[in-house]
Formats: sequence, structure tokens, C-alpha cells
Amino acid sequence: MSPAPQFDFDFIVIGSGFGGSVSALRLAEKGYRVAVMEMGRRWTRENLPRTSWSIHRWFWRPRLGLRGFFNMRFFRHVTILHGCAVGGGSITYASTLLRAPEKVWDMGSWAGLADWKAEMPRHFDTASRMLGVIENRILGPADHLLKKTAEASGCGHTYYRTHVGIFQSAAGEPVRQTYPDPFFGGEGPERSTCNACGGCMMGCQHGAKNTLDLNYLYLAEKRGVQIFAETKVIDVRPLGTDNGGSGYEVHTVKSTAWVRRQPRRFTCRAVVFAASSLGTMELLFHLREKGSLPGISKRLGKHVRTNSESLIGVRVGGCADDLSKGVAIGSGVYIDQDTHIEAVRYPNGSDAMSLLATLLTDGRPGAQRIALWLRNVFRSALRHPIKTTRVFWPRGWARESVILLCMQALEGHIEMRWERPWFWPFRKFLVSRGTKVPTFIPQANAFAKKVAEISGGTSMSMLPEILFNVPATAHCIGGCVIADSPKRGVVDVRHRVFGYRNMYVCDGSVVSANLGVNPSLTITALAERAMSFIPPASSATWDSGSSVFDNTRLAERDSALRVPSEPSV
Ligand SMILES: Cc1cc2nc3c(=O)[nH]c(=O)nc-3n(C[C@H](O)[C@H](O)[C@H](O)COP(=O)(O)OP(=O)(O)OC[C@H]3O[C@@H](n4cnc5c(N)ncnc54)[C@H](O)[C@@H]3O)c2cc1C
Ligand code: SF4
Repeated sequence: MSPAPQFDFDFIVIGSGFGGSVSALRLAEKGYRVAVMEMGRRWTRENLPRTSWSIHRWFWRPRLGLRGFFNMRFFRHVTILHGCAVGGGSITYASTLLRAPEKVWDMGSWAGLADWKAEMPRHFDTASRMLGVIENRILGPADHLLKKTAEASGCGHTYYRTHVGIFQSAAGEPVRQTYPDPFFGGEGPERSTCNACGGCMMGCQHGAKNTLDLNYLYLAEKRGVQIFAETKVIDVRPLGTDNGGSGYEVHTVKSTAWVRRQPRRFTCRAVVFAASSLGTMELLFHLREKGSLPGISKRLGKHVRTNSESLIGVRVGGCADDLSKGVAIGSGVYIDQDTHIEAVRYPNGSDAMSLLATLLTDGRPGAQRIALWLRNVFRSALRHPIKTTRVFWPRGWARESVILLCMQALEGHIEMRWERPWFWPFRKFLVSRGTKVPTFIPQANAFAKKVAEISGGTSMSMLPEILFNVPATAHCIGGCVIADSPKRGVVDVRHRVFGYRNMYVCDGSVVSANLGVNPSLTITALAERAMSFIPPASSATWDSGSSVFDNTRLAERDSALRVPSEPSV
């Protein structure tokens, strides 16, 4: 059946990050008319901020006049760092693209629902090709320091160069050379090779980082996908009474406007939620509460994972080497079976993060730890006044620091709920609940101290981790997990939302286990897999009824519907 012309679009994709970009391109290739609604701005080499002090072009808080691409959200259990732009988190991400270890498919609510270990490799291959993944060829002083420390700590054999989505010159070739599209047979944009400036997380100004606007979204727009930037989705409602079988209306406002918010209404046959773990949870909670999508599973917000992360670091005051040189995450080590540490950096001059750094402090969270921290600061100031002042002095922080990003592939999760906080009872917000995620990973702290010892520097923690016992993560995942029924999750094994027709979730919220590695490649591969089940527009029947919970019947109908579709790019 061909798509009904009375709809503005066949598919509306909400969010243009990893899941959204894959969805947009693959659906367009299958012949659908696709729109992408993205609340963030479009970025080019010219309008990216030079350093993190250019707060208004780095941070996203439109109501305060900050219209950047990076956001921090503070919850009782975790501080979540995330991206907000055309290209989602890819504009600010460090472009580390690692495959999730196989054991993750045996953990969490997705275990046993598909033959993941057999299916996922080909989707990882496609995702890696599209994102231009290579083994990092550029090692900076911070990577050498990580290696030296790993060797001194007995885990030197686990040291590895990260896999990154960065266009790098071959050994011996000059850097910052511009070439016609090197990735898509000439169909993509021209690119320049990386100059190791370490600026990936401030947005690459040299066209070397493989952001989504240079691959998936670029190709999607060439195939007619319309991207609506600065457009926030505030409502999604089924048009009829058949749970989305008659299509949806999607309401938007201009995200960067204060007063004239330019409300618009679009109609479509199908919707893909791809607003990230946090964004999709927030939107679905709001829509369930206001009655637009009352049938969303009660499991929404459950099993939110932080990748069990902790951010620590070392500042080497007066360091002869420029620790900001290299790519943002150049290398990593495994200090034990479950604990993974990467060497991270910001570019020279991007010192704003120093405001959150302080002296490393061990010990159990709470008042005891704060007291210990105060004692450490006091003692250090008395014993080494110059060294201590240097740790707190913002200027030169990025040049003199290596951030250690510690991740653990251990089970552990929190819950997000839609509640009125005690301090603001006028409306409901997303709030976190559950057992606190540990902020203190003793073996990671010991490793940071070793780095400090070898480099002559001072080890650092994040201030919120000590003061409020709240860890920070750039890798919030889960909340709409894959499961066998709405009693256990929000979407089925093909990302179809339980209770609705022609409605999907394709972003980090479906990830159903702690990955122990940076998640973007897994999110991309999962989206490739989800899209591979959608038939071409010419044979669409528009009845992807995940409201049918009998999985035997679902499986039978799926195999009848399925048209194998190898991605064409
Ligand atoms: C500083 C930093 C560095 C990182 N480095 C890495 C790394 O090296 N490797 C890695 O794997 N991961 C990294 N990450 C994490 C990575 O960015 C995320 O895991 C990834 O972007 C999640 O992909 P997604 O598809 O779930 O959503 P996103 O990429 O977050 O995209 C979601 C998009 O939806 C939009 N949106 C949300 N709500 C709405 C709405 N209501 N209407 C319209 N649009 C909406 C948002 O603006 C956003 O652009 C990093 C993150 C940060 C913050
Ligand atoms: S190191 Fe610099 S040039 Fe290389 S990808 Fe990152 S920002 Fe771009």
C-alpha cells in the first residue's frame, strides 16, 4: 500500500542524534517521506565556539540565552552530560566508537530475545563504516602518560589505542589536508585531516571529526529528508482511536524563542522517538501524563543506567608537555576485568571545566568524605601552597590536565519518575530515584594517584561527586528498555512501542544493560538493526502492531512482513 497523501510525512523522527540519524537515512532510502524535528541548532565550522569560556555558544539553556550544543542536567542520583544539536551528541562527543563486549547481550531485559551475538556484528560493521571508525593513529602526551602508568600498575598489556570516528592522515602524510569525500564514494562532503588539537568535545572546527551532519544526516538530506532545526516536539497524539493505526499529529514549538514560540502541527503515519535516553523519557512521561499517549508502559523510566562512571583526573602544574594535544580520547586501559579507564582531554584554553575539579578524595560518601576533602585541601595548601593553588587556578587547566574517564560494565541502575519536587510543587519534572550509583571507585582512585606520582601532578575528583555524592555521566542509557512485554519494558525487540502502532524508539533509551564502553556505536548499530526490519515504502502495510503482546503471533507476522534490506551506503 503506498503512503496516504493526506499526511505531511510518512515518518517523523524526533531528535537527530545517533538513533535519529540512522532512522532518517534508512527510512528515506526505503522510499518514505521523512521529517526530523530537532530542538538544537545547526552548527558549522564557522559558528562553533573557540573555547569553553564562550559559554553562550557551548551550553544549551535557551531560556538563559545560552544556545550551544552541550547540556548538563542535575539529578539527585546523577549529573547527566548530553548533546543538543542537529547531529545530537555527535557535535560534542569525543568520537570514541567502541563495540560493546559480547557479555552485555546476556545481561538485562533484552537477554534471550534475539540471537544478538549472531545478529549484531553486521550492524556494528555497517555503523563503523558509516561513522568512519579507525584505530586512533594520533597519540598525545596524555596517552603516553596513561601507557606508562598502566605498565607501572601491571596492566600495561591492556593498553589500547581507541577506535575513533576521525579522519586522520596516514603515517608520514601532512596533517590538515583537505580531500574530496573520502567515505561515501564522492557522495559526502569534503573533509580535512585531524591536526590533534584535542578540541573534539568543543565541536571540530577542522572538519576532521565524523559528526552525524557529515555522514548519516548529510546523505539523508540528499535523499529528501527535511530537518527542522530549533524545533522542539511538545506533543504526539494518535489521530484516530486505533492506537496510532490512523497516524499521528505532532506538535512543535520553536525551541530558541522566548515569546513567539511559533506552534506548528504536522501529521504523519509513523513516529520514531530518538530524543536520547533523557529526552525520550521526558517526552513520553509528559505525553502519558497529559493523556496523549496514556498506554505507554508503566516500565517507562525503569532501568536507567549511567554506565557506572566516575570522572577523575590529574593536573600537572607547569607541565612541559601540552597534555591537551591529541584527539579527545586517544587511548584506554582495563585496570581489572570490569573497570575501564580512558585518557580524555579538552583543547588548550577550554578551562571552564576546572570550576568543577578539586583534590581527589577517597572514602565513603557523605559528611565523612566532605570532612576528609576539607582536611586534604587544608593540608595540601599548608604543605604545597603553590601546587595547590595551581590545581584550583582555571587558567592553563586544559593544557596541564588529563581527565580519566572510568567506566564499569557492572549491573546497577536507577529509576526516573515524573513527580512534583518538594521545592517546586507547581508542575511535574523528571526526578531520579533508587539506590545511589557509587561515586567512589577505589581502584580508579588508586590509578589516578599513580598517574599523579609518575607525572609529578596532583590527582583530582569532580566537586559534585564529593559534595553531593552525585556521579557525572556522559553516557546515560536506558529508561525505555527492550523487553518481551510491557510488564518488563517499553519497546519490543524491534523497537516498537508496546501499546501503539507505527511507533518506535531508536536511541540510547532502549539500551538494556551497562555497556562498560562509550555507547554511541552500539546505539547506531541497534538503530541499523531496528530499521532493517521496516519494509520498503512500496510494501508498507502500516500495521506494525506492537499492541499485540502475544510474541508468537508477533514473530509470525514479522517474518511475513519482513523484507531483508541491506543498507545501500
Ligand atoms: C561531552 C560528551 C562526550 C561524549 N563522548 C562520547 C564518545 O566519545 N563516544 C560515545 O560513544 N559517546 C560519547 N558521548 C555520549 C553520546 O553523545 C551519546 O551517548 C549519544 O549522543 C546518544 O545518542 P542518542 O541517539 O541516544 O541521542 P542524542 O545523540 O543525544 O540525540 C538526541 C537529540 O534529540 C534532541 N531532542 C531531545 N528532545 C527533543 C524534543 N522534545 N524535540 C526535538 N528534539 C529533541 C536533542 O536535542 C538531541 O540532539 C559523549 C557525550 C558528551 C556529552
Ligand atoms: S583533535 Fe581537533 S582536528 Fe582532530 S578531530 Fe578533534 S577537534 Fe577535529
